[in-house]
Amino acid sequence: HIDITRLQHLDAEHHLHPFNDNAALAKKGTRILVKGEGAYVWDAEGHKLLDAFAGLWCVNLGYGRRELGEAASRQMTQLAYYNSFFQCTVEPTIQLAVKLAELTPADLNHAFFTNSGSEANDTILRLVRHFWAVQDQPQKNIFIGRRNGYHGTTMAGASLGGMAGMHKQGGLPIPDIHHIDPPFWFADGGDLSPDEYGIVAARRLEQKILELGPDRVAAFIGEPIMGAIGVYIPPMTYWKEIERICRQYDVLLVADEVICGFGRTGEWFGSQYFGITPDVMTLAKGITSGYIPLGAAMFNDRVAGVLKHQGGELAHGCTYSGHPVCTAVALENIRILQEEGIVDRARTEIAPYLAERWAELGEHRLVGEARIAGMVGALELVPRKGERRFFDERGHVGVLCRDTALKNGLILRATYDSMLLSPPLIWTREQVDELFEKAWKSLDETAATL
Ligand code: PLP
Repeated sequence: HIDITRLQHLDAEHHLHPFNDNAALAKKGTRILVKGEGAYVWDAEGHKLLDAFAGLWCVNLGYGRRELGEAASRQMTQLAYYNSFFQCTVEPTIQLAVKLAELTPADLNHAFFTNSGSEANDTILRLVRHFWAVQDQPQKNIFIGRRNGYHGTTMAGASLGGMAGMHKQGGLPIPDIHHIDPPFWFADGGDLSPDEYGIVAARRLEQKILELGPDRVAAFIGEPIMGAIGVYIPPMTYWKEIERICRQYDVLLVADEVICGFGRTGEWFGSQYFGITPDVMTLAKGITSGYIPLGAAMFNDRVAGVLKHQGGELAHGCTYSGHPVCTAVALENIRILQEEGIVDRARTEIAPYLAERWAELGEHRLVGEARIAGMVGALELVPRKGERRFFDERGHVGVLCRDTALKNGLILRATYDSMLLSPPLIWTREQVDELFEKAWKSLDETAATL
């Protein structure tokens, strides 16, 4: 038995929630979740919720897989901790580095482990600058990211990203980080076709590199699909052009695969979905299906070769870099994803059906655009059907729709008025149908209040 009211009170008194208006939340009372199984989670009041957001884009395998708990328990009992400093390491960490080298595209063969996606992005900022500095190009230290991108919450992660709310808090970005506008055809494409627009949006990078000087620009970083800001799925022409520009000016291409990695788009990595080969990749979330914290930065042979052979000591690392329990859980997660063919099944069976039903939701009078790529998508809610225009007061309707969905037993996230979808990859057609029913009902109820 759980005393919900008391727990809510204690939570309001003692717990600061990330990315929340804590005063408003305290007044409303937090929902306490107590159990997860497959595609569903249950709250303390006994409500069963279809989680169409996989926790926070991460529970790719779905909830309640005992094997992951058993892998953690085995490793904890055998050797709960050892680090990779001082000429030591542990077996699951070696095996995971090998597995990631095998899974990631091309010659991304070298893993550096962290606790989170934010730290993985801090890692690339520091090590890529080191890569250029030891080759006598210390001035080639500028990173270019995108406004409204999200790369984490540390000083470097928040600087590389361009979330307006975070920047408003001050101190950002740290020096030598610049941003270009993101590719968002819905709001920004004008009369261009998506493919034409993809090229135009990518050329902003070229303009920025030329403005700053190619000898100053170390790397470009981007999420293959921008997640947190609202699942901006770029036109297919965008990333190819970005890759061309990076190659032309010898600017390293960094793909932040924290959301897209491990099957989110139906491919193992978002880079493969868009047909590009980054030099560096950052990973987290789906690497353990969120069962335990872990992040990684993957470097290709060129970058790792310089770091290894010219870099001297890598003055960088965390106590828990390559934590054996976390890497053991990641290995088990990847084993299941591979052996049960979950990523392939998502791509070939579930994603096409999901796309069909998502497009049907796009017919609703409140929806201006239904975008989707594999197992990630968004419904853009609009004041007037047929017009690519936002509500005047952005975010109000999105929150209303999110809360209505929750009441109807469906977890969707809202960013402004984009309703975000990112379900566990283990969904069946039944869950896709349940999503449709509950989302349509929630859209209807939201529209009725406007
Ligand atoms: N990069 C992307 C694209 C993300 O979506 C996130 C988190 O949502 C991060 C980095 C940061 O990862 P973490 O929250 O594990 O630090």
